[in-house]
Amino acid sequence: MEKIDIRSLNYQELAEEVKALGLPKFRTDQIYSWLFEKGVREFSEMSNLSKDLRQALDERFVIRNCTIDTKLCSKLDETVKYLFELGKGEFVECVVMKYKYGYSICVSTQLGCKMGCKFCASAIGGFKRHLTASEILSEIYTAQSDLGIKISHIVLMGTGEPLDNYDNVMRFLELVTNEKGLNISMRHISLSTCGVVPRIYELAEKKLGLTLSISLHAPNDKIRSQTMPVNSKWNIEELLTACRYYTKVTSRRISFEYAMIDSFNDSVECAEELASRLSGMLCHINLIPVNNVRENNYERSNEKNIKRFISVLERHGLTVTVRRTLGSDINASCGQLRAKKENL
Ligand code: SAH
Repeated sequence: MEKIDIRSLNYQELAEEVKALGLPKFRTDQIYSWLFEKGVREFSEMSNLSKDLRQALDERFVIRNCTIDTKLCSKLDETVKYLFELGKGEFVECVVMKYKYGYSICVSTQLGCKMGCKFCASAIGGFKRHLTASEILSEIYTAQSDLGIKISHIVLMGTGEPLDNYDNVMRFLELVTNEKGLNISMRHISLSTCGVVPRIYELAEKKLGLTLSISLHAPNDKIRSQTMPVNSKWNIEELLTACRYYTKVTSRRISFEYAMIDSFNDSVECAEELASRLSGMLCHINLIPVNNVRENNYERSNEKNIKRFISVLERHGLTVTVRRTLGSDINASCGQLRAKKENL
């Protein structure tokens, strides 16, 4: 019989397993705390359980972990980038960044990605599989224990499309925010999507309180379709209609991500068109000078063009920020380490 992935169970499900094993109720809290609060890697670490009980758990369940394959520490800031091995030659990337308000982690949600965005290193090599909730959690536990820190913020912006792995990601969110576990506030979590429209409607209904980021990267379908295949399935108008619905239902401001690519999407006309599409929306625009990936030829916009772009948007009353580049000396943008490791 295949062992049950115990760190993907929620509290109620764990309680049922504890009951099925004929154990007293208080064991649920003990085991839950070891797994989700302390983030143990093995049953043998559960020191307030008898040896027999630890063995019985080990026979029935598995704790999914990852191990550090590569760790790169930025000399410019305190950004740390990891390549974790999940086992069987499977690798995921994750980045920890230090901000004034605490430590933020950027986690991967899939092995590879189906979405095929042309500027993105995660698309290299295609899609392998979804990560389970426990595997996404294990990125956090492993980074926390290696660095001796407590993570306070999470961005689902690593490799993978979180809304394409909807059930596991929803489960992850439930577990990571549980007050008996890592207890991270939904307000401190951002989920980034390239625009899986039906899932945006579903997510809206959940009213989770997280920040939804939309990877827009273009002001019109003609430009967007050149780099983002998802646009042929759900175009910008369909995407923005879903976004308007999301803000209406949740009253949460949406963050639009816009990778600035030289001479591609950074003209004044692009800024004007973007402003006219987004004006009046409860939103914020985050400009990202595109990171060069060895497999493509996209160059980041120069500072003058970025400033020009910002001034057009601001003139239309939109709020704009430029993403701080952290860990630029360690190639902190996602997908590149894994692609190298797996020879993709
Ligand atoms: N699939 C999700 C989350 C992963 S990508 C999404 O598309 O949103 C996280 C963010 O990094 C997205 O906004 C993505 O478009 C952006 N990104 C990917 N490659 C990039 C690059 N080379 N330079 C700048 N941003 C990039």
